[in-house]
Amino acid sequence: MSYLMSNYAPLDVAFVKGSGCWLFDAQGVRYLDALSGVGVVNLGHSHPEVSRIIQSQAQRIIHTSNWYQIPNQEKLAAKLCKIAKMDKAFFCNSGAEAVEAAIKLTRLFARSKNITSPLILTANNSFHGRTFGALSATGSPKVKVGFEPLLSGFEHIDFNDIDAIKAFEDNTNVVAIMLEPIQGESGVIIPDEDYLNKVADLCHKNNWLLILDEVQSGIGRCGKWFAHNYNAITPDILLLAKGLANGIPIGACLAKGAAAGLFSVGSHGSTFGGNHLAAAVALRTLEVIKEDKILQNVCQISNYLAAGFKQKLAHDKVVEIRIKGLMIAIELNKNPAKLLQLALDQKLLINITGNAIRLLPPLILSQKEADIIIDGVCKLVDNL
Ligand SMILES: *Cc1c(COP(=O)(O)O)cnc(C)c1O
Repeated sequence: MSYLMSNYAPLDVAFVKGSGCWLFDAQGVRYLDALSGVGVVNLGHSHPEVSRIIQSQAQRIIHTSNWYQIPNQEKLAAKLCKIAKMDKAFFCNSGAEAVEAAIKLTRLFARSKNITSPLILTANNSFHGRTFGALSATGSPKVKVGFEPLLSGFEHIDFNDIDAIKAFEDNTNVVAIMLEPIQGESGVIIPDEDYLNKVADLCHKNNWLLILDEVQSGIGRCGKWFAHNYNAITPDILLLAKGLANGIPIGACLAKGAAAGLFSVGSHGSTFGGNHLAAAVALRTLEVIKEDKILQNVCQISNYLAAGFKQKLAHDKVVEIRIKGLMIAIELNKNPAKLLQLALDQKLLINITGNAIRLLPPLILSQKEADIIIDGVCKLVDNL
């Protein structure tokens, strides 16, 4: 009998140690981690610089609250704003909280425009988190079931359908559009190359805020700092979390222009958000991504994996391979649910989303480790 609530169904394994892309159980058996704790441990497990900064910062100071200055939080805000071309940052502890901050900003934005029933457009099959605002924004019915009534003020449109957004142009209640540049949880859904440009144009034309939820796709995961960098646009609000501090909880809501000036003293807050420990680790994580040329590695290994999968996967079972950087889904023509356990038996950690195998390996993945993933996934698909 477990004292834990029943909202997870963990596989029958517990890891006691990690190193790079590898995890070890108590018996010392090693597993290749092709998920990175769901896109979090992007520099790998026990990265020496991340471990060092955690230790040294913890020995000095961990937490004081935001009622006192936190120099590393200031530095982190400056660094993130510089690489994201944004003006201001707010720090919280998770992706969902970053989404909540964005929703609150849109409410204040609506008020500034005298809109009393504001609408945010979000996409069908999107995922924005589990808190009530984020859940209401989410366009995946299965995570919402049972929790109604949800927050009102969201309209869901089809992803990658610009006409669906245009249909709202004469609705004066619309204040914002929130999208994942690449839909992660619903299986690495990559829109047309110019979709985000067109969305950004529509937002600009109608004075809507463009909110990009890059909680999963950001911080190098797609081979650039942010997935939207492929479109040469900047959103009004940018949301980050998962890989930001390589496993230490932190979320960020960045904003530019009008959106950056909406919060005033007391209008939003977080006890833990951006504390000394989280801020120091995030700062060092960003530095290491640059120092170790992680973005280049992501692009290189992404091409290598794409070529390997294309060449070696059983063509009769694969519907589509979707890959952007190290966000990867292999869509199969049969439900692959049983492959989760088979992969574990093979000492490979993967995720199954719908009919797809989803992979989010650490961004430090080597070619040798990529080969193990390619061979492992091929073996799994052969078993389908
Ligand atoms: C994971 C995720 C979230 C939620 O993040 P949490 O830290 O679990 O709250 C929000 N948006 C996207 C795109 C995500 O992938």
